[in-house]
Amino acid sequence: MSEAKESPVDQLWEEYGSIFREFDDLTLARWMAQTLGQLRGRVWRMSHPLVGAYRLAAQIGHDRQVWLKRLANAPADYREAECCRAPLLPLFTRDVVESGLLCLHCGVTAVPFDDLPAQLQNAFRKWAADYSEIHDVAHWDDRQRKQSGNYDHALDEAATRAEKLLARIVRTHLSKLLDPFPAVVWEDQDECLDVRPEDITVA
Ligand SMILES: [Zn+2]
Repeated sequence: MSEAKESPVDQLWEEYGSIFREFDDLTLARWMAQTLGQLRGRVWRMSHPLVGAYRLAAQIGHDRQVWLKRLANAPADYREAECCRAPLLPLFTRDVVESGLLCLHCGVTAVPFDDLPAQLQNAFRKWAADYSEIHDVAHWDDRQRKQSGNYDHALDEAATRAEKLLARIVRTHLSKLLDPFPAVVWEDQDECLDVRPEDITVA
């Protein structure tokens, strides 16, 4: 067992997840297959309650290798993820260039960056370069903080710019991922800059 203590948020999600741990494998597989059908055709915030519930089920399903048991069929347009053979539901994060799109079931790279359509690669590469410059403000060292004159102000400004950049990539490009994939989730937060889902206005 790991000595690392879970954060209070992790403990809370652990508590939320107890409903799915009580499901038997067949019930869990059917619930996930049905929910994938409901997720289809949209770009989703990671903070959306339906996505949150699906992530809990997906993690427990992954631990129990439910998709390998072939107990229920996911909607046919979800292809099998190479990482864990669950239906491919990709997660877009600010680390898209380094990590590609992540698997919502097992957490590793599900779609390498180089496998994305070329046009999207170009747009994501430019966006990620802008974003990482802003994100870096949260990780400035003492010298950089002093140089800024007013670090609190610099940090606030970086958070505001990050909120706008996240909203922009969602509005301009993420729906294009619905061409290769039936549904897409994006990480609507930045914990280092203290950007919360409610700070990002997409509509
Ligand atoms: Zn996976």
